[in-house]
Amino acid sequence: MDCNRVQEMVARGECVGPAERAHAAVCAACSAVVESWGQLDALLQDDPAVTVPQGFADRVMAAIADQPGTVAPLRWFERRWVQLGLVQVGALVSLFNLFRFVLRVLVPSLSLGGSP
Ligand SMILES: [Zn+2]
Repeated sequence: MDCNRVQEMVARGECVGPAERAHAAVCAACSAVVESWGQLDALLQDDPAVTVPQGFADRVMAAIADQPGTVAPLRWFERRWVQLGLVQVGALVSLFNLFRFVLRVLVPSLSLGGSP
């Protein structure tokens, strides 16, 4: 049984089948996930007055955006100019090979097996 699959099913609130329940009963990691999600569900159901404050998501996203250095710097091959340069080099090599192929077809002395 795949632990990730079981834990994702629990987290999504999907109906867990008997095989997944049997696995969660013997797997420490999955049983911990089942227990914590069960506690969260019970907490949310016990107090229906709990509501998300107005603009909460916007404030969280703004706070995340204000965090300096949260995004890892790009590696050298992830930089846009490097990727564009590699594409240009690849295109030039392709055009060169195409030109060489056409030239060898049109000029038999250049191709293998051509008579001089
Ligand atoms: Zn498991």
